[in-house]
Amino acid sequence: MPDVSLEASSAVDRLAAVRAAIARAAREEGRDPAEVTLVAVSKTFAAGQIEPVLAAGQRVFGENRVQEAKAKWPALKARYPDVELHLIGPLQSNKAQEAVALFDVIHSLDRPSLAAALAKEIAREKAKSGRQPRLLVQINTGEEPQKAGVVPAEADAFIAACRGVHGLVIDGLMCIPPIDEPPSPHFALLAQIARRNGLSMLSMGMSADFEQAIMLGATHVRVGSAIFGHRG
Ligand SMILES: *Cc1c(COP(=O)(O)O)cnc(C)c1O
Repeated sequence: MPDVSLEASSAVDRLAAVRAAIARAAREEGRDPAEVTLVAVSKTFAAGQIEPVLAAGQRVFGENRVQEAKAKWPALKARYPDVELHLIGPLQSNKAQEAVALFDVIHSLDRPSLAAALAKEIAREKAKSGRQPRLLVQINTGEEPQKAGVVPAEADAFIAACRGVHGLVIDGLMCIPPIDEPPSPHFALLAQIARRNGLSMLSMGMSADFEQAIMLGATHVRVGSAIFGHRG
């Protein structure tokens, strides 16, 4: 965790501390800090709280609900057109069209019905605007029954079906390790599944463990509370 207290500092101070911690962790691992993208997770925070972070130069943000993002981001994007929005939460197939229209990266592809819905909407969006969101498959590395994601044993077949059956371009993988276990084995497992499937984007690590994720190859860390403070 960055050594800046949540209470005595501003989101902009904490952003700088997180950026410094990311750079430090990358260098310790012999990696170029530019290989690690900070996804600032702004879910539950209002536009007014996000604005200073935008003004400080942060451009990549994560949201976990389509409706919330739709309410907050179009106005912010009008003022900061180079914002990149990532959907990090579960996606219902009937919201695929809205998600494809709004997000640049979708981290939560985890079932055949969603792959089919995204394939249809991405083809439509591509024809209309030339835009094509990047897609990550969510892996349920801890095989938790309540958690979204493909179980590791089914990952290769699911990725192959996304590519072969649905014609999707898959760019990487995402995981959320179990809350009560050391995260590193989960990060290592995700990296291993990515490697054998030829995937380069690894979305792993949150406020409590992004440094460990970077040590194991994360290309995208999703950091919310360490920047924006505790969610109410
Ligand atoms: C909320 C959330 C995060 C950010 O969590 P913090 O612990 O606040 O950094 C990251 N990833 C996902 C999928 C989330 O839902």
